[in-house]
Amino acid sequence: MNLKLNRPVAFVPTMGSLHAGHKSLIEIAKELENEVVVSIFVNPLQFENPEDFTNYPKSISSDTQLAETSGATFVWVPTFEEIYPNNPEIISAGEIGKLFEGVHRFGHFDGVLTVVKRLFDLVQPKFAVFGEKDFQQLFLIKEMVARLDLPVTIISAPTIRETSGLAMSSRNSRLSNSELANASEIYSALGAATSGKSISQARELLLQKAQKISELILDYAEVIDEDTFDIATESTVKPRAIIAGWINGVRLIDNMAMTNPESAK
Ligand code: AMP
Repeated sequence: MNLKLNRPVAFVPTMGSLHAGHKSLIEIAKELENEVVVSIFVNPLQFENPEDFTNYPKSISSDTQLAETSGATFVWVPTFEEIYPNNPEIISAGEIGKLFEGVHRFGHFDGVLTVVKRLFDLVQPKFAVFGEKDFQQLFLIKEMVARLDLPVTIISAPTIRETSGLAMSSRNSRLSNSELANASEIYSALGAATSGKSISQARELLLQKAQKISELILDYAEVIDEDTFDIATESTVKPRAIIAGWINGVRLIDNMAMTNPESAK
């Protein structure tokens, strides 16, 4: 398959149901290159839960409109067969792919890397823009690009939030108003972590706050080293608070960069 594109290309892969977070990624891509490709493909390989895959919100025509008004020059909605013609080359996300999101979503990151590699092969972008919202995903994509020496530069984009602080997500549309209010407490929990006087105190504050969020079934709340994805220690230079869980069957994931209180002294 040959996409007819003016090169160089800046690329924004998505699963659709676009919101202001995606819009910001497309705008960043537009600053990098005039030709901006947005793909919309709900990748079955990265869903460990068939119900989540089936219920994933779909809105192709409004997505196309939002992508184009944000600067996309080509909105690409590939079929399953285009992406996975016969036996797809499965990319392993390795040990870090088994941590955090990978613990509860077995095979999730192998699915993500497999589709991203395939999309890169087809689009051959110069730049590809990904959100910090999915921080472990961003980390693993950067790691794959380095490991396989792919000719693409990965650009990371900041998380766009509702005024409540809740990170925008396509899945938020499945939450009621009171569930949305509870979900926005995740942002407060991350904020609490940033006020810790040490990494261990930050971790404690994060966990305490997270455990008190109504309706939240917590998967993890941790402070990691964003350069390695190891658990942060008191000497970690770039700590980041990460959190994920479920409210009424809807997965919520978020993170926040921190300053190590020791280095700030
Ligand atoms: P998705 O459609 O959920 O697969 O996301 C497509 C891209 O948008 C990924 O790079 C996400 O990290 C990014 N993204 C999703 N939500 C946000 C957000 N609230 N702010 C910034 N980027 C986001």
